[in-house]
Amino acid sequence: MSTTQRSESMNSFFDGYVNSKTTLRLFVNQYENALRDKVEKENIADFHSFKSIVPCINHYDIEKQFQSVYTNSKFQEFQKELTRKIYYYPTFIKKEGAIEVYQVTEDMRIGDKRKDVVYDILLNEEEFEVKCSCHHYEFRGILCRHVLCLLREKRIKEVPLKYILERWKKNVKRKHNFIRCTYSGMEDTSVAKRFDMFCAIHFMKWQK
Ligand SMILES: [Zn+2]
Repeated sequence: MSTTQRSESMNSFFDGYVNSKTTLRLFVNQYENALRDKVEKENIADFHSFKSIVPCINHYDIEKQFQSVYTNSKFQEFQKELTRKIYYYPTFIKKEGAIEVYQVTEDMRIGDKRKDVVYDILLNEEEFEVKCSCHHYEFRGILCRHVLCLLREKRIKEVPLKYILERWKKNVKRKHNFIRCTYSGMEDTSVAKRFDMFCAIHFMKWQK
């Protein structure tokens, strides 16, 4: 997520709650209010999620999996990633131990210009750990289009439960003080830690 995208989402979150004259004390109160209102809106959206079902857009099993558990609004966000995956094809780069490295090239349009952006995906199929250098999952809690296209190529039909976050399930009663601030979703195991370390080193090299 770019700095601009981050600041836009912050602005929309606080829109109507704070302005340039807001004091720090008031800001803290208003932050609580903004969070509470946001959760109330989500609860209303969840209520509608029980009453209506957003139809699947294809026969992809993973889409059905997310349709059955996620709230409508989060499922629609997932569908956006899913529809964009059809434009990408992963290329196998190498295998290091149990970890396979793939690359996906995305044809991005920035203003009038087009630019190829390459993303790295690291997959440990044995443990089903996956990470993409776009970090969409870590920011949004949804597997990105690059990972989804890789799962399609590998004919993987279901994602493990750790990638289905409690936070977005239909049957979760949200309380604003229980909101998690991270989407890592990884379990605290030595395998997960090793995988995280490998990804961190790999992505550091990739960014140079
Ligand atoms: Zn990605």
